[in-house]
Amino acid sequence: MVKLAEWQGKVVFRKYGVPLPRGEVARSPAEAESLVRSGKVPLPCVVKAQVLAGGRGKGGAVRFASSPEEVREAASAILGLDFKGEKVRELLLEEKLAIGRELYVAMTLDRAQRLPILITSAQGGVEIESVPDAEIDRQPVDPFPGLTGYEKRRAAKTLGLAGGPARTLEKVLDSLWKAFQQEDAELVEINPLAVVGDGLVALDSKVIIEDDAAFRHPEYAEVRDDRTELEEIAREKEIAFVQLDGNIGVIANGAGLTMATLDVLTEFGGRPGVFLDLGGTDDPKKVTEAFLLMCRAKPTAVFLNIFGGITRCDTVAKGLVEAMHQVPPAERFPLVARIRGNNEAEGIEILRAAGVTAVPDLKSSAQAAVEAARGRP
Ligand code: ADP
Ligand code: MG
Repeated sequence: MVKLAEWQGKVVFRKYGVPLPRGEVARSPAEAESLVRSGKVPLPCVVKAQVLAGGRGKGGAVRFASSPEEVREAASAILGLDFKGEKVRELLLEEKLAIGRELYVAMTLDRAQRLPILITSAQGGVEIESVPDAEIDRQPVDPFPGLTGYEKRRAAKTLGLAGGPARTLEKVLDSLWKAFQQEDAELVEINPLAVVGDGLVALDSKVIIEDDAAFRHPEYAEVRDDRTELEEIAREKEIAFVQLDGNIGVIANGAGLTMATLDVLTEFGGRPGVFLDLGGTDDPKKVTEAFLLMCRAKPTAVFLNIFGGITRCDTVAKGLVEAMHQVPPAERFPLVARIRGNNEAEGIEILRAAGVTAVPDLKSSAQAAVEAARGRP
């Protein structure tokens, strides 16, 4: 997914006429300071970490400053922060505006309705996931006529805007709709859209470009992804590999079983840290390669949950045992295996010969993995 950083999203917003605060990007405390000394960014200002994770405000990654010294201080504090697993390398400095209310506006795709959808809420400024459903208005939009006057007026009503501000909102929504369509976006979100005097200003941006449309947008080819280093390697090797913030490694096959496995571990109090979806591979070498990549993520324990179909249990077992021989003893971890299905008996035998006992049922195997991750036998 092409996820744009806030400042990149704002470049898109500017192109379509969404009103924005004055702002500049800085990559060092000295550069940040000189942006305000030269008047390119007026004081007081906001210093914002350019990371893809949300909740920067609450997490200390958005700070206010009213002098060049404070700007430098805020910039040094934020640069180099490790924010939710992402290192901060860029800052956005913006004029600090006197905010009235904070609103939420977004356009995204509703896959169930197969339509674009306009989402609005008067409870902006907090993550939309934490806003009660009753406070959120969703309007499907017919892509052919595009946003209609009715939809825009209903949005204004939801947001509690009338008169001049309501007309401004209509323009903002037109811009947002155009950006959504012409950039082939999957999401364009303004949170918050701030009421400033009689106007509206987009204080934040979240823009995600649809993967399948990437070929139409070479301009985003350089946009850095939020993949970790290991995920990047996995991608090159065409291995489905995702890092999470827990400590249990999960190897499963198929998206459905993989997700269910993460759920079951979580249900029993475990925290999945990395997962690997072997998909329908029938190549032990590929399994070995994938497993070794998982080892580099340093899981505390690994839970193997395979349902053999196209992927045969003995293929997985062979690949796994081969990989286990390559892991130095100091880096080994407990492995709990559950393998069922195609060539199950052969797979179990291969594992047993290598000292791994397969547990047939899901509940006890998941519990064993959680216990092992806690350091209990
Ligand atoms: P995040 O969504 O990651 O927390 P935001 O960009 O939404 O980051 O900023 C968090 C909060 O900081 C906003 O809800 C707003 O209250 C405040 N803020 C952000 N930019 C400005 C600005 N230019 N002027 C005044 N307040 C701002
Ligand atoms: Mg925000």
